Amino acid sequence: MGLPKKRKNLVILKNALATKILIDSTKTAIGVEVEINGKRNRFYASKEVIASAGAVDTPKLLVASGVGAAADLAALGIDVVSDLPVGKDLQDHLFVPVVLTGSTDIGTALPVVDLRTIGFPTLNGFFALNGTGRPDLQIIPFYMDMASPFFAFACANNFNFNDDICSSLINANQKSELFAILLVLLHPKSRGEIKIRSLNSAPEIYTGYFSNADDFETVTAGIRRIINLTETEYFRGFNSEVARANLPACDGLEYMSDEYWECYALQTGTTLYHPAGTCAMGRVVDAELKVLGVDRLRVVDASVFPSMPSGNTNAPVIMVAERAADLIIQQYYGNQNIVTVP
Ligand SMILES: Cc1cc2nc3c(=O)[nH]c(=O)nc-3n(C[C@H](O)[C@H](O)[C@H](O)COP(=O)(O)OP(=O)(O)OC[C@H]3O[C@@H](n4cnc5c(N)ncnc54)[C@H](O)[C@@H]3O)c2cc1C
Repeated sequence: MGLPKKRKNLVILKNALATKILIDSTKTAIGVEVEINGKRNRFYASKEVIASAGAVDTPKLLVASGVGAAADLAALGIDVVSDLPVGKDLQDHLFVPVVLTGSTDIGTALPVVDLRTIGFPTLNGFFALNGTGRPDLQIIPFYMDMASPFFAFACANNFNFNDDICSSLINANQKSELFAILLVLLHPKSRGEIKIRSLNSAPEIYTGYFSNADDFETVTAGIRRIINLTETEYFRGFNSEVARANLPACDGLEYMSDEYWECYALQTGTTLYHPAGTCAMGRVVDAELKVLGVDRLRVVDASVFPSMPSGNTNAPVIMVAERAADLIIQQYYGNQNIVTVP
C-alpha cells in the first residue's frame, strides 16, 4: 500500500486543530472548521466527515458542533443539532499496584524463566474470579533489582502516585528486591464523564473510579489472590511479603482488612490510559458508527466502545478503524471492493 504520504487520495495537515464540524440546516455534516497557525479554515466533504480525535477530544468536537446532551449545550449557548449523551459513560481500565518483597534472586530462581531478562511489560496474565470464564482482571507483573530506579521514574512520569506512596515503594526497594504486579480492572461497572466547560479550554476528565461499589469487590478479590502468592513455596523461599505503601488516609483501618484494601484501591487506583465509551455505539452512534440524528457523520475511535475489551485498547481501536473502512467502502463503492486479508 505504500507510505500514507505517498497516497494520492490522502492529505495530512500538521499542527491543525479541528474546532467544529460544519452541520447544515438539514442536519447533514458538510465539512470541518480547522485552526492552522491561528487561522480558521473550512474544508468541505464530498462524502462524509469522520471524527477521530479520541475518547477525550471527540466529545469536545461534537459538543462544539451542537451534538451533545441538551443541558450541556444550553450551558455553553450552543444550539442543539442532536440531543445525545456525548461524553457520558466514560470507561477506563484502572490499575492498582501490589508489590511483593523478596530476598535476593526472587527474579532468577524460577527454573524456566529469568525475570531479569524480560522487560516491562512483557509478562501479562488474565484471570477470572467471576465464575464466567471471561477475565475480569489482568496482571502486569515485573521484577525489580535492589534499588532499581523504576518506581522513582514511573512515579514521576507514568503513575501519578503521590510522594507518600512513591517514597514507601522506593524505600521497600532499597531493602529488598521487588516483584511488583499492576492489577488491572478489565470490566469496571463505574462510569465517569468528559465535561466540556468551555470551548476555549481542555475537556475535563472525571474518571468516576469506584463510583460503583462492585468494583471494590472485584479489585479487593484480585489483591487477595495476589497476596496468596506469598504463601506459596516459591515466594516463602524468599520471605516474601506485601510492601506496605504509606497511605495516611488508610492509617485508621485494620491493615489487610477488606476496608483497608478498599481504601488502598481508592488511594492508589490510577489510569492505564485506556479511556473509551464517551460516544458509545447504541447511545451516540449506530452499528455503522454513524452519529444518531446527523447525516454523513461518523465517529471512529475508542469513544465508540460500548464496553471495555478484556485487554489493552490499541488493537481494538485499530479493528474499529478497519471495520469503518469496510463500511465506508461498502456504502460508496459496493462489496466487491473490500479486500480481506486471509
Ligand atoms: C501513555 C499511554 C500508554 C498507552 N499504552 C498502551 C499500550 O501499551 N497498549 C495499548 O493497547 N494501548 C495503550 N494505550 C492506549 C491506546 O494508545 C489508545 O487506546 C488508542 O491510541 C486510542 O486511539 P484513538 O484513535 O481513540 O485516540 P488517539 O490515539 O488518542 O488519537 C486521537 C488523535 O486525534 C488528535 N486530536 C485530538 N483532538 C483533535 C482536534 N481537535 N483536531 C485535530 N486532531 C485532534 C490527537 O492528537 C490524536 O493524535 C496507551 C495510551 C497512553 C496515553
